[in-house]
Amino acid sequence: MAAVLPPDGSARSVRIVRDRASLAAIRAALPGPVGLVPTMGALHGGHVALIERARAECASVVVSIFVNPMQFGPGEDYERYPRDLEADLRTCAAHGVDLVFTPDVPTIYPPGHSTTVDVGPLGTVLEGAARPGHFRGVATVVTILLDLVRPDLAYFGQKDGQQVVVVGRVVRDLALAVGLVVVPTVREPDGLALSSRNAYLSAAERAAAPVLYRALRAAVDDYARGERDAERLRARMREVLAAEPLARPDYVSVADRETLEELAAVDRGALLSLAVRFPSARLIDCWPLD
Ligand code: AMP
Repeated sequence: MAAVLPPDGSARSVRIVRDRASLAAIRAALPGPVGLVPTMGALHGGHVALIERARAECASVVVSIFVNPMQFGPGEDYERYPRDLEADLRTCAAHGVDLVFTPDVPTIYPPGHSTTVDVGPLGTVLEGAARPGHFRGVATVVTILLDLVRPDLAYFGQKDGQQVVVVGRVVRDLALAVGLVVVPTVREPDGLALSSRNAYLSAAERAAAPVLYRALRAAVDDYARGERDAERLRARMREVLAAEPLARPDYVSVADRETLEELAAVDRGALLSLAVRFPSARLIDCWPLD
């Protein structure tokens, strides 16, 4: 069941596949190397950066679009998560994607599915503490997508810094034969990281949202001036966030880039990360320190 969609105005068309058998057949004929960009759709400039990087490095580019129910907790935004397949297909066609895989839930999790991938403590700190089970869902769906698509390279955004660490651990621990490529975060001119969830923000919240970037930048600048005390870097981020009345910080973190354990001193790099609740959306951002 592979369809060809003529995107409006574009000379290119993109193949779409929804079931496992057609995916396997089409995948087998794709010239390598094959790059996979896993997404939940509602594609924006951040996703496009991943697609363009894959396009530059791979002979064939596959984009998966799947809003993964396993990575949403009860009461989270699974039902209202933005979905716009037509616009996504136009974006994929315009950026030279060869194949879009848009499975439904039973295609990824057939009836009776019960095996999950648990990365241990890495998945229970930071986002994992705020969203129990989230990284089990991420690790499980990424493992299934990698197995179904069998890419040579898979592309992930630095924006979701803990996800990068978790997926790296899965690939290492399960000896998966894929290379991971991490693409820098794409930001609005005012510093706000592009995210499908930015669409939830009111005008006032949107105006306040760059506070995440400002908090990270303040800590990055202190680090550049020689600050190595992790607690002072956390305090700096908290101080910037506290000045924004619409923002309620969930956590600020200065953690080891491999274990995600909170650091006392930054002497071998670190991952700065934070999560902030606004009335209409919860936003995350991060910044790796070398
Ligand atoms: P999502 O559709 O939110 O699951 O994201 C799919 C991929 O795009 C993930 O690897 C994200 O980290 C990446 N991504 C999302 N937003 C950005 C951004 N602003 N810059 C770079 N990558 C991003």
